[in-house]
Amino acid sequence: MNEKGEDGKDKAWKSTKKVDGERYFSCAFCDQKSSGTISRLKHHLADTPGGMKVCNKVPANVKKEFQLLLKVFKDDKNKRNMMLREIGAGIGGGSNKSPIDK
Ligand SMILES: [Zn+2]
Repeated sequence: MNEKGEDGKDKAWKSTKKVDGERYFSCAFCDQKSSGTISRLKHHLADTPGGMKVCNKVPANVKKEFQLLLKVFKDDKNKRNMMLREIGAGIGGGSNKSPIDK
């Protein structure tokens, strides 16, 4: 199963029609045009609030796919934030203080 990374990106692009020479793309299902990043269209297809009207013609299985895709992305971000926090605590926090001090 290749559900993340490049493949996921590819999937999103497959559901759009890139307009040659223009700065926007349109949804492959409802022809709604959008400019900006592909993530907006992902939200459009996943039926999640993301700055764009949600798609009313996206097939259920595709919608689910993008919901999954966005969830994976979110989890990934959370994980990274947690890691950053740990690193930040290691650097910024007083190293003399034991974390189990209370
Ligand atoms: Zn659409």
